[in-house]
Amino acid sequence: MIKITNTLSGKKEEFKPIEQKKATMYVCGITPYDFAHVGHGRVAVIFDTLYRLLKFLDFEVKYCRNFTDIDDKLLKKAQQEFNDQLQYGKVAQKYIDAYTQDVKALNCLQPDCQPRVTENIQEIIDFVDGLVNSGHAYVAHGDVYFSIKKFPVYGRLSKHKLKDLRAGSRVEVNDKKQDPLDFVLWKGTEKGTFWKSPWGYGRPGWHIECSVMASKYLGKQIDIHGGGMDLIFPHHENEIAQSEALNKKTFANYWMHNAFVRIDKEKMSKSLGNFFTLKQVFEKFDPMIARFYYVNHHYRAPIDFSFDELAALEKSYRKLCKIFEGPLLKIEKNKVMNFPVVRKMISFLKDDINTPGMLGVVFENINTIKDNEQEKSAVAMILQDILGLSLQPLAEKKVTVTPEIQKLIDERLRARAEKNWAQADILRDKLRDLSFDVQDKKL
Ligand SMILES: [Zn+2]
Repeated sequence: MIKITNTLSGKKEEFKPIEQKKATMYVCGITPYDFAHVGHGRVAVIFDTLYRLLKFLDFEVKYCRNFTDIDDKLLKKAQQEFNDQLQYGKVAQKYIDAYTQDVKALNCLQPDCQPRVTENIQEIIDFVDGLVNSGHAYVAHGDVYFSIKKFPVYGRLSKHKLKDLRAGSRVEVNDKKQDPLDFVLWKGTEKGTFWKSPWGYGRPGWHIECSVMASKYLGKQIDIHGGGMDLIFPHHENEIAQSEALNKKTFANYWMHNAFVRIDKEKMSKSLGNFFTLKQVFEKFDPMIARFYYVNHHYRAPIDFSFDELAALEKSYRKLCKIFEGPLLKIEKNKVMNFPVVRKMISFLKDDINTPGMLGVVFENINTIKDNEQEKSAVAMILQDILGLSLQPLAEKKVTVTPEIQKLIDERLRARAEKNWAQADILRDKLRDLSFDVQDKKL
């Protein structure tokens, strides 16, 4: 039995798919206007692990992750880079390519579909038109808005009550809306720009794309919908409203949200400017260390990002690779559950994707694993196939000793000789910042 914490109920629930041994999952993807940061990597790895687990357990899985390739941020970037906002497609392609490279480096499998908004405009127009016709949306001067009061169960996912939202809502300067909580489905633009719709030229609002693409690629009702916790409100709440208003069905049965990656207790985000890109991390660490770092944390627990923790985990990952070094035996998949350590590992994964618990099992049983070639090979198979760890020995880092590094090494040797440990530590950290790790022998 697989258990998943469902944001909708707030409880850990048994996963019961709509169809036996089949699973559909939709995960909100990136807006490609800049390089992906460590937070984006977390979403990719967590849902990739779930995808791999379901496949391993013989589910026929269909996994869809979108690209929001039209958006204000993209238009702004296109204006900056090309002096023409209509060149947003070039911006999108550049960062989609970069993202694809990053998640590949993290050993994430490709989702079964990766649709883009701009490839689904007609479907979006039809969906919005359906909402207008059913009375859930209204047209106002070229824009189309979803009418919250026509969807009385709004707020189920985020546990917001409409009256509280109203009390707390900022009064926007937008006299087109009938209610400040109504959200935009279609944004009207100047004549002749973007796409032609029954309401004039325009482009889609943000939330509508996921309702449309989930139903187009996976069906009107899906098993699992995922994303970062920041998407619960309003994005996912709005997706539910749009989809359920039109399709008259529960949109997604299980809502899974991963916690944030934080810096100084604040969410890592583009808008706050407190982020590291995956590329910056990969300059210092092998991408496998980054993946190992993610799965060392439970997906529902926040990560306080630190390079020191990455460095510490690099050491334990190297140890792990050492254990599984050398030729491994080929174990048939149907035999793999015969090994007690593997059974324990899988039971942790089935319990709300408890990856740190699963790794704990491996480290606790290291001696048993080492002594049994068969079991060792079976454990390696799980680590590779489900956790996505390659277990390939990492290349030793080659660092050129620059005069700057040599100077720090000399200073540090002097500090140690003088037993000035505090100073020696400071110098070690400086060396580490230059990707130079010192290992001391006893004096
Ligand atoms: Zn979405």
